[in-house]
Amino acid sequence: MTVPQISLNDGRTIPQLGFGVYQIDPGETAAAVTTALEAGYRHIDTAQMYGNERGVGEAVRASGLGRDEVFITSKLNNGFHEPDEARRAFDRTLTALALEHVDLFLIHWPLPTLYDGDFVSTWKTLEEFRADGRARSIGVSNFQIEHLQRLEAEADVQPAVNQIELHPYFQNADVRAYGAEQGIATEAWSPIAQGAVLDDPAVTEIAGRLGRSPAQVVLRWHIQRGTIVFPKSVTPERIRENLALFDFELEPADVAAITALDRGERGRTGPNPDRFAYVPS
Ligand code: NAD
Repeated sequence: MTVPQISLNDGRTIPQLGFGVYQIDPGETAAAVTTALEAGYRHIDTAQMYGNERGVGEAVRASGLGRDEVFITSKLNNGFHEPDEARRAFDRTLTALALEHVDLFLIHWPLPTLYDGDFVSTWKTLEEFRADGRARSIGVSNFQIEHLQRLEAEADVQPAVNQIELHPYFQNADVRAYGAEQGIATEAWSPIAQGAVLDDPAVTEIAGRLGRSPAQVVLRWHIQRGTIVFPKSVTPERIRENLALFDFELEPADVAAITALDRGERGRTGPNPDRFAYVPS
């Protein structure tokens, strides 16, 4: 079982499949990440907002794996976009993880209606973290095309990735295509729509025919389209199931049948990044 590596525009690589820890209780995180690492995951996606960076660091350090064997992503929380706040928040991330660097650090949301619409100075602060080596790669999350275009016009370094909501019901096709054009790798959050796509007849038909689970079929669809995914689960059996994607393949007609499930904007389950303005207290 080998997870492919995706090349990033900064010369680094990222494992195409990882383990997401959104909504995992801080007290359960180390155990879930330990299960994931034992199963063979080598890429963990956390965030300041999830409150569970400490558990991620604990599990990685206890695993006996070398630091360079595990790819760790975290994200800047929404209250810390102002450059000095961002610097302090990034220090806290490294302290919580108890690590000297992260492999990837993202601006979690663009928040275009806050901070006078200025996410560019926030981005330039992430450029500092990359320059001093404490973030090996930097990227963004939930950026729309016009947000990416602003960075292209005003920043020195372009994002290595854009992490966006993307699943069969909401394929975010324009943002994904723009990323592909610009050399920005697309990461799909909620890749199985938190389970909502698993009962779809098109998915269950393919799963039944191939003797695979619906989650495996949908995750395999992402993999074959070149997208980076990190499904979340706390159930050991599902954690292992979601990694077992590399000993089967979908025929082009099955890929097309899943692609045909796109509902456009109606399929979005999370907030619209143009309007999202939540700052945790
Ligand atoms: P997901 O699509 O990965 O779905 C997770 C849920 O699906 C689980 O809670 C479980 O109920 C179910 N599930 C998982 N595996 C299953 C299986 N094999 N069979 C049946 N059901 C299964 O949703 P997610 O957690 O929202 O997204 C994945 C990751 O993406 C997160 O953990 C986080 O790292 C990231 N994320 C990022 C953002 C962002 O704004 N950048 C937002 C949401 C999530």
